[in-house]
Amino acid sequence: MTKQKQAILNIIKKSDGHMTAEEIYMKAKKELPSIAIGTVYRNLGLMTDAGEIRRIAIPNSPDRYDKSTKPHEHLVCQKCGTVYDTFVTGLKEFLQQQAGVEITGYDLNLKFICDKCKPKNHI
Ligand SMILES: [Zn+2]
Ligand SMILES: [Zn+2]
Repeated sequence: MTKQKQAILNIIKKSDGHMTAEEIYMKAKKELPSIAIGTVYRNLGLMTDAGEIRRIAIPNSPDRYDKSTKPHEHLVCQKCGTVYDTFVTGLKEFLQQQAGVEITGYDLNLKFICDKCKPKNHI
């Protein structure tokens, strides 16, 4: 494993799990000042393909990289864009049954308003 890849992987593993490539690059630069953003993107692509991390595509927002490759879904706050993990069981089986075909994968982003962004109750 290259020094660059090791550094990028460490950053993702230490994060809360949903960083953008830009955020990963800013952190990697502190450890390896000469690292290029292209190197970060290339390594993220390789790690995604190898199943070491998971890429989450969110419309109108940069892709996030997830340290957890375990099956789970994402809740995306529509106000602040924070991505939260949520565990829904049996979804793939349910979708498969409804669609009547064997599903090999799906992308699902559940939209919500997180607690931090919920309007405070007026007293
Ligand atoms: Zn929020
Ligand atoms: Zn996640």
